[in-house]
Amino acid sequence: MSSRHIKVLFSILGIVTVVGGIFFSLRASGEEDVSFRNNEASFAEVPSPASSTPLSGITATSSPMKIPILVYHIVRPAFPTDSRAVRALAQTPEVFDAQMQYLAEAGYHVIPFRLFEDHLLKNAPLPSNPIVLTFDDGWSDQFTYAFPILEKYHYTATFFIFTNPIGHHGFLTWEDLQKLLAAGMTIGSHTLSHPFLTKITNPAILWNEIDGSKQILEKRLGITVREFAYPFGQYNATTTALLKQAGYVVARGDYVMRGNVQSADNLYALSALNAPTSLELFKRTFPAH
Ligand SMILES: [Zn+2]
Repeated sequence: MSSRHIKVLFSILGIVTVVGGIFFSLRASGEEDVSFRNNEASFAEVPSPASSTPLSGITATSSPMKIPILVYHIVRPAFPTDSRAVRALAQTPEVFDAQMQYLAEAGYHVIPFRLFEDHLLKNAPLPSNPIVLTFDDGWSDQFTYAFPILEKYHYTATFFIFTNPIGHHGFLTWEDLQKLLAAGMTIGSHTLSHPFLTKITNPAILWNEIDGSKQILEKRLGITVREFAYPFGQYNATTTALLKQAGYVVARGDYVMRGNVQSADNLYALSALNAPTSLELFKRTFPAH
C-alpha cells in the first residue's frame, strides 16, 4: 500500500472512530436521534471542573485583562429534529447576524487572534472593548452561514480545524479554507482526530495529533499555524509542553469555567466562553458600553 493509501485509510478510520464515538455517546445518554447532522454537538467541549488540571508554574504575575474569546460551533437554520445538545451549541444565521450587529452597536471591537497575541506578548495596543471570535471543528455550515455574516460586518475570526475530516461530507474543504484565509480569517489547529489529548498514552500519537495537524495545515495552506485549541478544552502539563515544542504561540484552554480574564502567564490555556445561543443572553453576557 502506498503512503497515500495509508493516509487515506487513516483519515477514514479517524472519521469512523469519531462517528462511532458520537453514536455511542448519544446512545449512552438516551438520545435516539443519531443522524449525522444532529451529532455535531458531540465535538463540543463539555465543561467539567475536573477536566483541566491547572498548569503548574503558572502564576498571576501579569495583570489580568478582560478579553472574551467567544466559541461558536454550529451556525445554521434549526431543524425540528435537533437534539438538546445541538440546540445548546447552535445559533441560527438570524441570531448570529443579530449578535454580530449588536457587538458593533454595543461598542465592542472584534480583533484578530494575532493582535490579541501581540498584545499579550508585546503589549501591542488594542481598541476599546476587544473581543475574539472563534469557530470550532471545521463544519461546512460555518462556511455557508457564518462566513458571509462575518464578511458583512468586516469581522475576522479564527477557525480551529481538526484535519482528518477536511473535505469529507459536512466539513470544510481545502478550497473553503483557502477562501477563509483570503478573506482575512485565521486557521488554527484542533488536532488530527479530535481526541481527548490527556487520555493518549502513546507519545508518538500525541505528538502527531499536536504537531502533525500543524504540519498538514501549514503545508496545504502555505501558512504558519500559531494557534491551537484543545479538543474538549482538556490539557495537562504534557500536552502544553508538546505545544510549545511544536511551535504554537497560544492555545485556547477550557471554557465556561474560566470566563474572559486573560493574562500573558496563561498563553497555553487561554480562557474562552461558549457563545450564547440567543441574542438576549448574548446582550446580558456582553453589556453595552
Ligand atoms: Zn472541538
